[in-house]
Amino acid sequence: MLTLKQTDRIVVLTGAGISAESGIPTFRDAMEGLWSEFEPEELATLSAFKKNPKLVLDWYEWRIKAFVDKAIPNPAHMALVKWEEYFDHFTLITQNVDGLHIKAGNKNVIEFHGNIKRMKCLGHNHKFAWIRDGEEIPLCSVCNSMLRPDVVFFNELIDSENLQAANKAVRNCDVFFAVGTSGVVYPAAGYIEVAQKLGARTCVVNTDPHYPSSKRDPTVFLRGKAGEVLPNIPLE
Ligand code: NAD
Repeated sequence: MLTLKQTDRIVVLTGAGISAESGIPTFRDAMEGLWSEFEPEELATLSAFKKNPKLVLDWYEWRIKAFVDKAIPNPAHMALVKWEEYFDHFTLITQNVDGLHIKAGNKNVIEFHGNIKRMKCLGHNHKFAWIRDGEEIPLCSVCNSMLRPDVVFFNELIDSENLQAANKAVRNCDVFFAVGTSGVVYPAAGYIEVAQKLGARTCVVNTDPHYPSSKRDPTVFLRGKAGEVLPNIPLE
C-alpha cells in the first residue's frame, strides 16, 4: 500500500484515460463517423494543417463541440483538486488538451500538450481563445498569420517552459503517479523511469493490466478506473 504524507513532493502525470469517465474519447476512439477515413497522424500535424487548414480546424472544432464543451470533471479530477490543497508540493502534468483539470479547480497544472480551446498564430505564437466561427480560417489580429490549434502536433517539440517545469518537478519528487496514460507518447512516457531512478516511489493507475511498458515495475500498480481509484487513496 502507498502511504502519502502532506510533506511528500507529489507529481501526477495524467493521460486520456482520466477523462474517459467524463465522456472524452481517446484519439483513436474519436476517429468515428465523418472522420473514420482519417488517421490522427493525418490531422494532427503541422504539414497537414499547412496543406489543408480548414480540414484540420474542422476536426478540432468537431472534437470541441462533440466532447470537450459538454464534459464535466469526474471524481478523479476532483480528487486531484483535494490533493493540490492537501500536499505542500504538488505538480500536475497533463497530456490532455481538454482543460478539465483547470475546470475542476487545479491551479498548478502543466498543460504539456497544450489546450484544445486555444489557438496560436503560425507567425509568432500569439495566443487566443478558440475564435473560429464556421467555415473561416481565422487570422492573427497582431501579425495576420493563420491561427492553428494551440496543441502539440505529432512530431512537434514540447513548449520549453513546460518541459523545464515538468523536468524539474519530476526530478525532485518523492512520489510519482501515472494515471490513465498508455505511456507511449514521449517525453512524458519517460518520466516514470526518471522518477524511479532518482528514488521516487511510483504508482500507476490504469484499467489495463499490461501497463507500464517501461523496464521497471512501479512501486504500486492500482488497476481500475481513475474515478474510482484516486478518491480512495488515503491521505495520512
Ligand atoms: P492513450 O489513449 O494512449 O491511453 C489511455 C490510457 O488510459 C490507456 O492505457 C488505458 O488503458 C487507460 N484508461 C482508459 N480508461 C481509463 C480509466 N477510466 N481510468 C484509468 N485508466 C484508463 O492516452 P495518452 O497516454 O494520454 O496518450 C494519447 C495522446 O492523445 C496524448 O498525448 C493526449 O494529448 C492526446 N489526447 C488527449 C485527450 C484529452 O485531452 N482528453 C483525448 C485523446 C487524446
